[in-house]
Amino acid sequence: MKYTRPRGTQDLFGDSMVRWRWVEDKLARLAASYGYSEIRTPIFEMSDLFIRTVGEATDIVTKEMYAFKDRKGRDLTLRPENTAPVMRAFIENGLQRSGGVSRFFYIGPMFRYDRPQAGRYRQFHQFGAEAIGSDNPAVDAEIIDMSLKIYRTFEFQGLEIRLNSVGCPACRPAYRQILGSSLENLKGELCDDCAQRYAVNPMRIFDCKECGPVKARLPVMTDHLCADCSEHFASLQRILREMGISFVHDPLLVRGLDYYTRTAFEILHPGLGGQNALCGGGRYDGLAEDCGAGRVPAIGFSAGIERLLENIPDKAVVGIDFSKADIFFVVPQKEGYARAMNLASQLRDRGMRVEVDLSGRAIKKQIKAASESGASHAVFTGIEELRENAAAVKNLGSGEQCRVPFADLAAFLEKERE
Ligand code: AMP
Repeated sequence: MKYTRPRGTQDLFGDSMVRWRWVEDKLARLAASYGYSEIRTPIFEMSDLFIRTVGEATDIVTKEMYAFKDRKGRDLTLRPENTAPVMRAFIENGLQRSGGVSRFFYIGPMFRYDRPQAGRYRQFHQFGAEAIGSDNPAVDAEIIDMSLKIYRTFEFQGLEIRLNSVGCPACRPAYRQILGSSLENLKGELCDDCAQRYAVNPMRIFDCKECGPVKARLPVMTDHLCADCSEHFASLQRILREMGISFVHDPLLVRGLDYYTRTAFEILHPGLGGQNALCGGGRYDGLAEDCGAGRVPAIGFSAGIERLLENIPDKAVVGIDFSKADIFFVVPQKEGYARAMNLASQLRDRGMRVEVDLSGRAIKKQIKAASESGASHAVFTGIEELRENAAAVKNLGSGEQCRVPFADLAAFLEKERE
């Protein structure tokens, strides 16, 4: 084989693709049930959009972007995440609802150059939602509730919500200074990456998997929140409790993107080891300003679809229709093709899924293919049927067979399949 798919990517087909479509449909319906409408943005954007918003000292920007130049020398990047693109589209298209919350959801591929392993890919897919236009903590609760509902829908159990507040531009600078001084004293114990980046953004150390022992000794943001952030965080927790949503306050949770303010959260699957984050989100009240617009507070989440699909409990996987056809035409001789295709077209017009066996293979093999397709009926258009102007129709469930005039076939099958 001369060509293989790029490392960290997947080909999706067959039953696995049917499962994907099933999950995506359920997710789209879930989002709609909360009043979120779908948004699709390009899979590439100007690189600066990510550099300025996700943040220069983040892993995504320093190590993981698929960045390239187009033929005119413009710097473009395959999107590593979709919050900044949605905000860009929101501003560019003037989608602001006067005074109200604008709600969007998306499903699509994201790209990060990271070491592939179980549950981690270079092209992966996210389902996400963004609620733009309000800093009401009830909106944070709606987003958390909706992200949790994803996993309830698919009957996950034992999940944990980790919640934190990462402050705002009013309280973060003072905290960063305090954190910076603590890190200054501990710099001998930091990994090489953190030793370099703590001066640019000391909060990035909380993302580091290697610096665990140091993290445990650092001052935390929630002890240094301003009055507004403190009140916001307290209100959110109160609303969540009232809604019966349990969570753990994790003061070390910051998430790997710089644009977050106040609320940050993750949904963890404790059984999953290293890649245990199913979903993450947070508030990004400063992102619109980073994009050059006025202040537009907002919050969102994104959930990895691969991690969702790979961990769905078996008992939740019910009602997926893996069949490929409703009706399957068996054509024993080439004289029957035109008639079969003509009848198939009439059946499709009535909403049936129809496959015509055009392989010319032995009739036994065609009948086997008919059963495997999941069709309810096989229709035969052999020479004898052509002569009598009537198809042989076999009910693949009961095995019963009968003759139906070609002119009555559509009505007959429609009735049979009621
Ligand atoms: P993040 O934008 O990094 O907070 O990621 C949100 C969610 O997307 C994670 O909780 C994962 O479920 C999923 N995710 C992130 N990166 C990857 C990846 N490289 N491969 C598969 N899923 C990913």
